Amino acid sequence: MSSFLNEDVIENRNLINGEWVDSKDKIEIINPINEEVITSVPAATVEDVEKAALAARNASFNWGRLTPKDRADFLIELSNRVLGDIDNLSKLETINSGHPISVVGGEIKSAADRLKFFAGAGRTLEGRSAGEYAPGYTSIIRREPIGVAGLITPWNYPLLTAVTKMSPALAAGNTIVLKPSEQTPLTTLRLAKLANEIFPAGVINVLTGFGDVAGKQLAKSRNIDIISLTGGTNTGKQVAQIASETLKKVHLELGGKAPSIILDDANPEIVAESLKWASFWNAGQDCSAATRIIVTKANYDNILQSLKSSISKLKVGDPSIKSTEMGPLTHSKHFKNVENFVNNSEKSGAKIELGGKKIGSKGFLFQPTIITNVDQKSEIVQNEVFGPVITIQKAEDNFHAIELANDVKYGLGSSVFTNDVGIAMEASRRLKFGTVWINDHGAVTAEMPWGGFKESGYGKERSIYSIEEYTNIKHVMIKLP
Ligand code: NDP
Repeated sequence: MSSFLNEDVIENRNLINGEWVDSKDKIEIINPINEEVITSVPAATVEDVEKAALAARNASFNWGRLTPKDRADFLIELSNRVLGDIDNLSKLETINSGHPISVVGGEIKSAADRLKFFAGAGRTLEGRSAGEYAPGYTSIIRREPIGVAGLITPWNYPLLTAVTKMSPALAAGNTIVLKPSEQTPLTTLRLAKLANEIFPAGVINVLTGFGDVAGKQLAKSRNIDIISLTGGTNTGKQVAQIASETLKKVHLELGGKAPSIILDDANPEIVAESLKWASFWNAGQDCSAATRIIVTKANYDNILQSLKSSISKLKVGDPSIKSTEMGPLTHSKHFKNVENFVNNSEKSGAKIELGGKKIGSKGFLFQPTIITNVDQKSEIVQNEVFGPVITIQKAEDNFHAIELANDVKYGLGSSVFTNDVGIAMEASRRLKFGTVWINDHGAVTAEMPWGGFKESGYGKERSIYSIEEYTNIKHVMIKLP
């Protein structure tokens, strides 16, 4: 590791009220390509969470009273420091999460861009104009920070998700307590280090720890006013239930099972090139990965052949090597889940058209996998695999394709490939998903909202809608003389 990464860049303590804090109990952090221990980080206790939440509470008055411009200056400075540290952050993400070094720089740049976007967006917050709605009174709407935001992130895009959550929360005038995944905390701790050189103590607190202890306590604490989770649907339900005890605001970005509908007129080569990335980017560990490929029948054989041909060319291997396009799954428990999904589907009669097996004896590399002959109600179609595994289904016609696409509990991302703009627009109306891509799948931008329908959660991330999530609306009514 030392030739790849300078070990001095690894921070392995928690940041509470501007101080670096260690703990008795530790969590080992594993490199997913070789299963070596990189370092160990604190397993935050309930008391640690309460200390961090109190620090954030104490810092929130002054932070919330800064002007949006002054808060923007802090976010822009952090964005610049993230860009200045891109080499270290990229290497840390690669060894901790297994993201290929060839692409991970793009995630860091997107994170820096989101900081800048929300720095500006925080200066544009607005409400309705003041007015007289009752005789003798003037009403004014104030949009205010909520207070302290508890932010819980998963392991699939650790730095990018941390920044995506903290930027709108801070820009809107909230202070934060952030808990990264127990599997992948290293870039978030490095981000905390960069932030601690800029922000006032207590504004940004970062705790590593287990969801079952630290995560639950964030949902429970009376010093947390809004909880925002990106994670699995079951975790979201637990967080919402715990948060209901204090009726704190809840924002949930949960799982997905994105369909990609390919109609008869779509070009197979263009579709295959697009889905090679949309389905296998980050080894499919992406909540919007195109996992259910639904093809109308005249195009089915062509699409299957094109996908097999393009996906079999993916360069899978050590993510620290520049030519690698797909790295390992991020942790061992998840690897076993993915393996079980594939084995179970084969046992229940599905056909493995490509891949389906572990690569090598060490680490968590899994072959890019295509599965056909699947039943709509089967586990592999209905549940989130979150790995490099797609199913291909044949639809009788366009309506049947939409019906299959909507027939899951999730509603996050979806796409349609066709040259007919009328059909594309009709499909985008009928698809019950928070995002519909047309003739592409997966492109995102800081300005546009992201969020799910159904059991993919509620609330929006990115865009001006996201910053509004972190504000309260207050009515001030003035009796006129
Ligand atoms: P988990 O739900 O297991 O964990 C997410 C975070 O929640 C982790 O920090 C975890 O801690 C914490 N956590 C776990 N249990 C609890 C609990 N009971 N109370 C509070 N916090 C808890 O998800 P994964 O980390 O496995 O991430 C994958 C999931 O995230 C997938 O379902 C994926 O679809 C979803 N996701 C959704 C996105 C979206 O935009 N909608 C984007 C990216 C991922 P710990 O690490 O200790 O388990």
